[in-house]
Amino acid sequence: MRLSRPSPLYYILPLATLPAFAADNPAAHQHGHATLQVVMEGPTLSVLLDSPAHNLLGFEHRPVTADEHHQLNQATEWLTTTPLLTGNGIVCEVQSADVATGLNEDDHEHSEHHSASDLGHFDVEVTQQISCNDQPDDGVWTSPLTEQFEHMQQLDVEWISPQGQGASRLTSRDRSFRVTP
Ligand SMILES: [Zn+2]
Repeated sequence: MRLSRPSPLYYILPLATLPAFAADNPAAHQHGHATLQVVMEGPTLSVLLDSPAHNLLGFEHRPVTADEHHQLNQATEWLTTTPLLTGNGIVCEVQSADVATGLNEDDHEHSEHHSASDLGHFDVEVTQQISCNDQPDDGVWTSPLTEQFEHMQQLDVEWISPQGQGASRLTSRDRSFRVTP
């Protein structure tokens, strides 16, 4: 399984495009909770999702059963192809994406140090470069994450744009936040 092997881009992008967030925000591992960091440059977004694997998969160990393999494949596919932010009246596409789960044998950072039995909690990191054809007129951005993943109850968004920065907490009922210029 090579689905989640990070490409070289994975190591470069967060440093190049998320300088404010690269090192100083080790998100606490709390089930039900995740963070989404967003750098906005007009209609181009760089996002970094950091979430306990439990929120996305319902488990936090290497997939064993066929169901778990399927679940991991499905989640990886979705996270790779679905823009993590969209807006009303605009079309957004994922230009590039990386999903690092640490749950595959190929993820050497874990396999070198852990056997399958001593695995504790796992975080999933997703980076996406999103290109939209415009910015939403109302300044409102919406994330499909809390609808797609029922275990993700709170999504803390931190955004930064040339106009400023802000933070917002999304839930399954309130999946949008407004960026005011
Ligand atoms: Zn956990």
